[in-house]
Amino acid sequence: MKLSGWGRFPVQETTRLCPRDEAAIAPALAAGPLIARGNGRAYGDSAVGARTLDMRAFDRMISFENGLLVAEAGVLLADVIATFLPRGWFPVVTPGTKFVTLGGMIAADVHGKNHHAEGSLRDHLAWIELIGPDGALQRCSPTENAELFHWTVGGMGLTGVILRAGLRLRPVETAWIRQTTHPAPDLAHAMALFEQNAGATYSVAWIDCLATGPALGRSLVMLGEHAGLAELDARRRAAPFETPAKRRRSVPFDAPGRALNRYSVRAFNGLYYRAGQRRAGTSLVDWDSYFYPLDAVLHWNRIYGRKGLVQFQCVLPLARSEAGIRRLLKEISAAGHGSFLAVLKRFGAQDSPVSFPMEGYTLALDFPVSDAVLRLLDRLDPIVAAHGGRFYLAKDARLRADTLRATDPRTEGFAAMRRAQGLAPAFASFQSERLSL
Ligand SMILES: Cc1cc2nc3c(=O)[nH]c(=O)nc-3n(C[C@H](O)[C@H](O)[C@H](O)COP(=O)(O)OP(=O)(O)OC[C@H]3O[C@@H](n4cnc5c(N)ncnc54)[C@H](O)[C@@H]3O)c2cc1C
Repeated sequence: MKLSGWGRFPVQETTRLCPRDEAAIAPALAAGPLIARGNGRAYGDSAVGARTLDMRAFDRMISFENGLLVAEAGVLLADVIATFLPRGWFPVVTPGTKFVTLGGMIAADVHGKNHHAEGSLRDHLAWIELIGPDGALQRCSPTENAELFHWTVGGMGLTGVILRAGLRLRPVETAWIRQTTHPAPDLAHAMALFEQNAGATYSVAWIDCLATGPALGRSLVMLGEHAGLAELDARRRAAPFETPAKRRRSVPFDAPGRALNRYSVRAFNGLYYRAGQRRAGTSLVDWDSYFYPLDAVLHWNRIYGRKGLVQFQCVLPLARSEAGIRRLLKEISAAGHGSFLAVLKRFGAQDSPVSFPMEGYTLALDFPVSDAVLRLLDRLDPIVAAHGGRFYLAKDARLRADTLRATDPRTEGFAAMRRAQGLAPAFASFQSERLSL
């Protein structure tokens, strides 16, 4: 069958295996190389291989005690929230969609809007259980089989099949977030806002990436805190975990390829920035709207047309972030290929042999796939390299092996470990082949 990631680019031919229980995984592995897949929310080809092991049947939550959830890897984050938020618990780290599995979150070592303060998913994992190339199950944690733990969390499924995990959740008093929006007229102001608000639990900025000249990098910087009970009015306080039901919308078919162009994106960005200026200030927002605004529109990837979308996400070290982001934004606005969704976040320090984050700023941009966009991205890569930055493999669909090696010196160590431990080629995705991992 044909399969792709969330960006619907590239589409690859695969044999899909759907094990129903643990006993079916070892024979699947013995029959040849494969890659595990969660809910297919990675943008590119990291969860597609010649043989793809669909883990969604492993969807049982096993126990919950003192904030520690033990669950199978195919459990959706959306189900974790639906089960535990009404009991006063929320994930400490969440990506911008709740339609991801625990296995996919661990393999990408996802980050949220709180990396600067609370790190990535790995910092909240007690342990994982992993099936290796020989079909044997191993438990790993920061203290048990620690090396394998560190290679796996962020290892993009290339060290084994994650079967179960113990994940710590955080207690919350309500399902509401106190959001404060600050308009920033340019990049320097946006970055100053991040630095001044380093104590905020959550921070993220939406950037108008088509703004030029003195407005280059103009943004809306959005800060968030879990609201306490005392902050709710009497009506909400009576049911602090109830939030208004939402009407889900869905994009029923592919938008015509030309729907997203420099004119429509420029118009959208201008309107969005001005609406943000008007909304500036503090308000209470329900958890779903705050963390997962895109999830309200199901199949939103179809807006990008039949050819699909690519995301470009890099992180630049702190000292060179402003110069590097300026160069990237200049190149993008000059090319006229604006991105609807251009997001800036501040990362804190991170110690890991494979995970994406490093202390600095991360910029994520969505683009409709076209030859011109792919050429633009090829011009952005050297800018990232020249500023000491690196790329997020969960978003990648088109990076070259030499670019990855030039930007991330850890890559060769990861590939060598895979060869030495017999993990290559037992676990192989189209991405790992493209990137010679
Ligand atoms: C709208 C949107 C917003 C996002 N926002 C963020 C964000 O803010 N921060 C962030 O970090 N990421 C973000 N992402 C990326 C997303 O969190 C990751 O790609 C995540 O890995 C997807 O999980 P999944 O279950 O869909 O995994 P898949 O896409 O199916 O797989 C992703 C990777 O995990 C591996 N994998 C999956 N299950 C297993 C398993 N059981 N055992 C071993 N390996 C496995 C796959 O091999 C693959 O390498 C976003 C994605 C979308 C679509």
